[in-house]
Amino acid sequence: MRVALVNPAWHYDGSVYFGCRHEHLPLELGYTAALLEKDGHETLMVDGQLQNLDNGALAETVAVFGPDMTVVTTAPTYLFWRCAPPELRVPAEFLAELRGRGGLTVAVGPHGSATPGAALAKLGTDVVVRGECEEVVAALARAIGDRGDWRSLPGTARLEAGRVVVNGAPAASPFVDHGPLRWPTEWIANHRHHHHRFDGAGRGYGAEVEASRGCPYDCSFCAKIDYRDKYRRRSLDHVLAEIDGLISQGVGYVYFVDEIFLPQKPLLEALVDRRVEFGVQTRIDLWKPDLLELLGRAGCVSIEAGIESLTVEGRAALAKRCKLSTDELADLLVKARRHVPFVQANLIGMEEDEADLVRSWRERLIAAGVWANEPVPLYPYPSSPTYRQLWGEPDDRAWERAHEHYLTAFDRFSDIQDARPLPLAALEDACCKGH
Ligand code: SF4
Repeated sequence: MRVALVNPAWHYDGSVYFGCRHEHLPLELGYTAALLEKDGHETLMVDGQLQNLDNGALAETVAVFGPDMTVVTTAPTYLFWRCAPPELRVPAEFLAELRGRGGLTVAVGPHGSATPGAALAKLGTDVVVRGECEEVVAALARAIGDRGDWRSLPGTARLEAGRVVVNGAPAASPFVDHGPLRWPTEWIANHRHHHHRFDGAGRGYGAEVEASRGCPYDCSFCAKIDYRDKYRRRSLDHVLAEIDGLISQGVGYVYFVDEIFLPQKPLLEALVDRRVEFGVQTRIDLWKPDLLELLGRAGCVSIEAGIESLTVEGRAALAKRCKLSTDELADLLVKARRHVPFVQANLIGMEEDEADLVRSWRERLIAAGVWANEPVPLYPYPSSPTYRQLWGEPDDRAWERAHEHYLTAFDRFSDIQDARPLPLAALEDACCKGH
């Protein structure tokens, strides 16, 4: 079979999108391509940003390839599944440009995972994959190639006579044995962005890598119930082989997309002598001073740590399960800053945190060289516990409901947003069939 894998040409005008707008490697498509090729399928992977192609050009490239199946993602790489753009405008634009020339169409990503009916209706794809997609797409290709029963594959959903047929729960990849990914040299040469790096330009190209997936915690705001949920650690040999391959392609900085980069001494020790710097997102309460020193020596130049609330009550309301006091957290952040040139403490807008407390804490941290952002409002993503506490299991209006809640409940917005975001219908009207 011929399978096209598409990371569309993202744009975010009017979006609430909280993630980074630069180019990143589409890891989920990379793993999927590797599994498909292992099964003898021919693949074409395309990426709007890394190849400087708009959605029309991507669609033409795919049509020329003549695929039996086309897979399009609804979030720009696994790194942003937990904070994906709520709107499906961009993948819908790509599919409209494709005009039925892609064979069986499959959407993967957080939208179809949480709300398969809505994703199918808006995108008009033949199938959506629920959950982590790599093995499910490979199984789809296998079943279609063997003329088997692909319609009832676990982890998929589709429309049958206008009715949504959901096959089981969202899928979780075994993940631990994913082999080292290899990326086209031109893609790496176009990846100049060093994700979440603020200590200077750095050396070489940027790249993203996954050493672990999921997280053992269940913070109420964290959108991971349907994917990337359970903690898994990837084979260290494979992670290091992938990083060595990237270094040989001129990469000087990698960002670990791991939800929670837990202290892992063998990985850090292996990085000490490698000519690569890196960034992580983690929980500072899980690090001890000696491991922070090793983290810096290993080449870490960027830490993003979720503190979320400055009060025990606020952290408890978010189900952070944090055992340290606010002062102990501040102390660890400052200790980390001694070894790592950029350390960020993330805060969420919480009623429990009075403005004066937030202001003085931010001043104290910033004076010590740690960046503490203005508290950001909470977006109740359909795959988060918060959404389900507010409204129960997500239905076909879940994204609209979360979006309306966000727009009406908050009158001030994150310091990373330039303008008031638009309602979902306004973002999707022109392209999504469901509106
Ligand atoms: S620790 Fe981080 S990744 Fe884990 S549940 Fe909390 S916010 Fe999500």
